[in-house]
Amino acid sequence: MTGQDSRLDIIGKIELFLAQQSELYGDEICLSGYSHKSEPEAEIEATASSSKLEPVPEVRIPQKDARLEKSREVTTARKLSDGRQKTAIRVTEKEGLFESAVLKSEWKIDAKWHDSDSLRGLDERISKCQKCTLGSTRKNFVFGVGNPEAKLVLIGEAPGADEDEQGEPFVGRAGQLLNKILAAVQLRREDVYICNILKCRPPNNRDPLPTEVQACEPFLKKQLEIIKPKLILCLGRIAGQTLLKTNATLTELRGNIYEYQGIKVLVTFHPAALLRNPNWKRPAWEDVQKMRKMYDEI
Ligand code: SF4
Repeated sequence: MTGQDSRLDIIGKIELFLAQQSELYGDEICLSGYSHKSEPEAEIEATASSSKLEPVPEVRIPQKDARLEKSREVTTARKLSDGRQKTAIRVTEKEGLFESAVLKSEWKIDAKWHDSDSLRGLDERISKCQKCTLGSTRKNFVFGVGNPEAKLVLIGEAPGADEDEQGEPFVGRAGQLLNKILAAVQLRREDVYICNILKCRPPNNRDPLPTEVQACEPFLKKQLEIIKPKLILCLGRIAGQTLLKTNATLTELRGNIYEYQGIKVLVTFHPAALLRNPNWKRPAWEDVQKMRKMYDEI
C-alpha cells in the first residue's frame, strides 16, 4: 500500500467512524482525537460534547496504515443519498501520535448551541447553519415564532416561499388561515409557538429528505427542551410522519394521541391543504376542537 493509499484509507475510516457517530448521536458528538501508539493497533477515541451521551464505541486502525504527514487539514465530501455533505477533518502528527478534529466551523454553528437556555440564544447560535445543503439555497433561516413558554407548539414540515422570504413560519395564505383556525378556538399566534422541523426551505417545496431531518431535528428538540410545551400539533402528513417516524397516512394519524420527547402529539391537516380542498375543513375543525380540549386539561 502506498503512502497516499494509506492516507486515503485512514481518512475513509475516519469518515466511516463519523458516519457511525452521526447515526448514533446526531450531531452531538465531537471527535476529539485519536492516537497512534506503539501497540499493534492505534485507537480512535471520541468524547461526547454532552455528558448525557453514552461512551462511544472504539474504532481501531491497523498500525501499518497510520502514516500521515506532519500536519494536514482535509476537507472531504461525504456522499449521501441526496447529495454531498462536507466534513472537514484536521489530522496532526505530534511526536508519533496522531490527532484529529472535526472542524465544526464548517457547519457555521456555535459548537455550544446545546448549552443555550433561551430561544433567542439558540437562534443566534444556529442561524448561520450549513449542516445540510439547504443552508446554501435558503434566503432566510426560519427559526420559529411565538410564546417562548407556550403550552402548545404547532410544527410544520419546513418553510415555504413566503416563510423563506420573511424568515418567519406560516406567514403566507396558509399562515393567515392558521391564524383564523387559532382564533376559532380562542388562541392567538402569540399564545402558542410555531416552528417547522426544518429551518430552511427545501427547493420547490419538496418533501424534507431523511438526511436533512437528521441534521436539523436536534435543533427542534432543543427548542422543545427550552419551551417545555405540554402539547404539539403537527400540521400536515409530512410533519406528522417525519416527527413520529412513521409511514402512516394522515387518515391513520389523525385522531390519535402520540408522544414526542415526552410531549403529547396530535396530527391534523396542513392549512395549505385546507386551502386546496375546503372539504377537509370540517375534519380539521374536529381535530382543532380536540386539541383545544386537551389544551384546557393540561
Ligand atoms: S435545514 Fe437545518 S440543518 Fe439544514 S442548513 Fe438549515 S438549519 Fe441547518
